[in-house]
Amino acid sequence: MTSSFSNLSLAEPLSRAVAEMGYESMTPIQEQAIPVVLTGQDVMGAAQTGTGKTAAFSLPLLQRLLKHESSSTSPARHPVRALVLLPTRELADQVAQQIALYAKYTKLRSTVVFGGMDMKPQTLELKKGVEVLVATPGRLLDHIEAKNAVLNQVEYVVLDEADRMLDIGFLPDLQRILSYLPKQRTTLLFSATFSPEIKRLASSYLQNPITIEVARPNETASTVEQRFYSANDDDKRRAIHQVLKTRGIKQAFIFVNSKLGCARLARSLEREGLKTTALHGDKSQDERLKALEAFKKGEVDLLVCTDVAARGLDIKDVPAVFNFDVPFNAEDYVHRIGRTGRAGASGLAVTLVSGSDARLVADIEKLIKKKIELEAIEYEEDQPRGRINDGRRAWREAGETGDGRDAIAPAAPRREREREHRPGREPREQHRGFRPAVASRDPFFEKPYESSAAADAAPAWESAKSAPRSSVSANIKPKRKVAALFKAVAPATEDQAQAVTTD
Ligand code: AMP
Repeated sequence: MTSSFSNLSLAEPLSRAVAEMGYESMTPIQEQAIPVVLTGQDVMGAAQTGTGKTAAFSLPLLQRLLKHESSSTSPARHPVRALVLLPTRELADQVAQQIALYAKYTKLRSTVVFGGMDMKPQTLELKKGVEVLVATPGRLLDHIEAKNAVLNQVEYVVLDEADRMLDIGFLPDLQRILSYLPKQRTTLLFSATFSPEIKRLASSYLQNPITIEVARPNETASTVEQRFYSANDDDKRRAIHQVLKTRGIKQAFIFVNSKLGCARLARSLEREGLKTTALHGDKSQDERLKALEAFKKGEVDLLVCTDVAARGLDIKDVPAVFNFDVPFNAEDYVHRIGRTGRAGASGLAVTLVSGSDARLVADIEKLIKKKIELEAIEYEEDQPRGRINDGRRAWREAGETGDGRDAIAPAAPRREREREHRPGREPREQHRGFRPAVASRDPFFEKPYESSAAADAAPAWESAKSAPRSSVSANIKPKRKVAALFKAVAPATEDQAQAVTTD
């Protein structure tokens, strides 16, 4: 972060709101995107979540809409001028809240519409007239069809998290929505990746866009300390307790790959004495918002979630993210760990790797272009009595299989292990997810491990405390070769692996 917002000559109501937010200087995406959007050009932006991209598009957009400010109560004087489309309800809500904060000293009105909620209150807001409308595509189409939203005066459209919208299968909805908009407009597209589909979308709907790519989408924030621990499925909850305890972590996100796994893990951790809530696609909108609020207020310690439910959520100061399951898509790894270490804060990302995860870990390594070294956790046998110890006792007692195995271990029927619905990606995920580990046949895992300078440097997390890396925890054994660890936990034969994963 280098330059200040004062260089932008934002109008007084906007700079007052920014000052109130406590932002001292612009983030790189803001530095590059704001001046371009202020000129009214189309933008194709690649930026990770947590980079400040909401302000990057909404501040200049509001500035350009100021000429339409009106104190009139007539809805006709407040037509929709800017439309911001997002893939999920949570994201839409979050972006709308930020826009409302930036616009609070202007006369511009904003609102948000998303599915899973009664349409009536949204209709009332729309009928009063709003200049900035934040929406998820499906619900927006419902309002368009009900003639609650008229979009013929839209000057700006923002397609945020565009790659995610395509993943979810929103392309036909987007095409329909865009067909209602005037041709003469500014279009801003933000995406974590510039896949061929995104490029096609951009070439159809953007005019001579300026490309802004501040942080490569595959990069993980340097403020996040990434750790990969070897853990059998049976040991993963114990591993979470151990890391929470040794690192003194109060709050964390825990990612799992399936809705059912998410609900079960949340229940188990809760029984083990951790205040836990679950966030996944089967929860009602109201439950999801309540879960988020409870986490934000610090009423719960752990938010156990799936990728679909958690993508892009901005919750400040999450000290740690756990990958209870290694994600099926390496890109999701980048998004998951982007929940911590946001806006310059330091964070810890812990991935629990079991024997069948070799290929998924190799995919992550390729994507982030960093050597991944697996570490082993040595569990405390004589933990002092207290929360963690109680938890471990409860963990044994609560084991639904009666032998201390996690209820989401492969003993669960396949139907119950179905993945969160993710059209477009599902077949590939399922295929890859259940492929048995063949770590020893992958030449990558035969290579000896060289320690990289980056990996040996004291992590941000630790350097803040000026502690040498070796003092991270007496319970964490020195790194071992990945191949050795995978061999230790991998099923002996492919047949055995098949038996475990496809029952
Ligand atoms: P976003 O990437 O838009 O989700 O923003 C991530 C977080 O960064 C939000 O909580 C913003 O309030 C915060 N933020 C945005 N711009 C700045 C800035 N210039 N300085 C500090 N924090 C910021």
